[in-house]
Amino acid sequence: MAAEIIDGKAVAAKVREEVKREVEAMSRKPGLATVLVGDDPASAVYVRMKREDSAEVGIESFHHEPGGDIAPDDLADLLMGLNADDRVDGILLQLPLPDHLDQDRFVGLIDPSKDVDGLTTANAGLLMHSRPEAIVPCTPAGVMRLLDEANVELSGANAVVIGRSILVGKPMAQLLLAANATVTHCHSRTRDLEAVCLEADVIVAAVGSPALVKGYMVREGAVVIDVGTNRTDAGLVGDVEFEEARKRASAITPVPGGVGPMTRAMLLVNTVKAARARGG
Ligand code: NAP
Repeated sequence: MAAEIIDGKAVAAKVREEVKREVEAMSRKPGLATVLVGDDPASAVYVRMKREDSAEVGIESFHHEPGGDIAPDDLADLLMGLNADDRVDGILLQLPLPDHLDQDRFVGLIDPSKDVDGLTTANAGLLMHSRPEAIVPCTPAGVMRLLDEANVELSGANAVVIGRSILVGKPMAQLLLAANATVTHCHSRTRDLEAVCLEADVIVAAVGSPALVKGYMVREGAVVIDVGTNRTDAGLVGDVEFEEARKRASAITPVPGGVGPMTRAMLLVNTVKAARARGG
């Protein structure tokens, strides 16, 4: 039997609707500052979409677009200004930054209470402690919501996370662990990915390598979440061999239309959460 296709677009639309209703009930509009450094076209598209999403749900956006040659001290001043600005509840520093700017340094300057990407060490630490005030990175938070919407039982399940970035893989593993899954965490040095995957009830692939997860690596009835976003001659594809995997999986996310829309939607959720925590 072919797998259920988990419709990320539909779930994201539902999330946006929830956020919109919550914003309407708030005493003031939450504010999201977007900072786009340089002229990377893909980053410009992402930021534009995030601003459009914000407008749709009633979040005010404050956009800053310094040139790619901005001096490090000037970018630091911009971020400190946003930290101090009461209208701003969330700060989104679009990554990657141009080479002369040390990404870790600038992410580290963001006030953790406004870190709506959940990338500061403070938020990573709160997540590790399973603290409810943690602002969780948008992509893994979106995956958890998709798993919930698809009624996937995580407690006691064997979950395999492939990829260990601070943006996706590491927080993903933490969230699955907190949901009582038995988590196996794979990366480029994992010796036998096929054997590990074949034991999995849930596979989350976050690598950036087209068709890394072959159909035959998916156990009959497993749930497959494909975070990968790879631009190829055949268009946008994930990390999973979709057509083959869906013959064996019980549920699977497509690319595009799976995790991607959820990442955008969870930024809105995080912005409202940050605004609430700041008394909004
Ligand atoms: P990243 O920082 O490049 O991390 C990739 C991870 O994959 C690393 O941990 C790496 O292991 C691991 N890896 C590389 N080759 C491997 C292999 N052959 N077997 C097993 N693991 C391997 O990437 P990222 O930022 O986490 O993003 C991962 C993918 O998700 C990308 O395609 C990205 O575009 C996509 N993405 C999508 C969304 C979305 O909204 N849909 C959001 C964010 C990212 P090592 O640590 O050992 O090097």
